[in-house]
Amino acid sequence: MGNLKSGWSKGTIIAVIAVGFLFAGIFVSNYFQARAAGSESNNHLKNEATNLPVKKDASPQTIVQNTNDLRREKEFMQKQQKAAIHWRNEQEREISKVPDHKTTDIAAANPTTKDKLTTSQSPAKKSNATPIKKTNLQTKKIVYLTFDDGPAPFSDKIIKLLEKYQFKATFFMIDGNIKRYPEAVKLMTRTGETVGLHSVSHSQKQFYKSKKTVLSELTQNRNTLKSVSGVNSFIMRTPYGSAPYMTNEYKKAVKQNGYIMWDWNIDSKDWYYKDKRYVKSVIEQIKQKKHQNGPLVILLHERKETLAHLPKLLDYLKKHGYEGKPIEKTTVPVQF
Ligand SMILES: [Zn+2]
Repeated sequence: MGNLKSGWSKGTIIAVIAVGFLFAGIFVSNYFQARAAGSESNNHLKNEATNLPVKKDASPQTIVQNTNDLRREKEFMQKQQKAAIHWRNEQEREISKVPDHKTTDIAAANPTTKDKLTTSQSPAKKSNATPIKKTNLQTKKIVYLTFDDGPAPFSDKIIKLLEKYQFKATFFMIDGNIKRYPEAVKLMTRTGETVGLHSVSHSQKQFYKSKKTVLSELTQNRNTLKSVSGVNSFIMRTPYGSAPYMTNEYKKAVKQNGYIMWDWNIDSKDWYYKDKRYVKSVIEQIKQKKHQNGPLVILLHERKETLAHLPKLLDYLKKHGYEGKPIEKTTVPVQF
């Protein structure tokens, strides 16, 4: 080694060794840094559930992971937004009472609903039956709860309960009771219930005596309601329903005077049962009407026992997707 013919000086050799150590040092340093980074990213994995942001680690894997998360989040947001818009459109359609053909348009724009409908049909019937089926489904899920003979000292409790379920109802009220409980009537109009007429005498013999008595009782009833609530309502139910006392002559007369007569298609018989059996009876009738078109109109009374078991009925209706709507001037009346 003393003879360095190749011309390598001592200094050069020292320099080469020094450079060698330098590289070795850098390699070792990088190795430990890499290990430290590895354990850090493991911690991030552990914390993934808490969605902590990844600070330093920007390896290709992490970037892909983050991009996927963002994409999924965006998709989720878009889905939610779509659902919200659909829900709002449904609400607006209900309010503005858009004719039925629009319902079909919405059904076509909503693949989930359409799929459900088509799968329930046999292929042969599918082509022309689907839109009709959809329309029926829409009207079937509306229920008009009607409370007769009030108002009563506990009308506010009935309304509070309805509010809890986001249901509205219609109250057919007797003249004397409107005068007795004006605050209840005012509350009904404030909360958006429909206030209607139900005679002065509530007597079969007096009310149905003649065309004149029918009209005069309704006029008095209407004026009283108007003075208390400010609402000039022509929506009415005759005592005990229109059959059999409302003759064709009477019917024509009330119609000519602008009254809209409502009967019902479900009789709770709450006045007869006076306990929870009326709820069972209503549910049985609803099940029987399963394949029948049109909304449900349930006859109830402002009675304490009716109120006591009303949550059970409202639970059932809500659970089965019914919407409790108030009767409006434009609603096609259900008559016997
Ligand atoms: Zn009555």
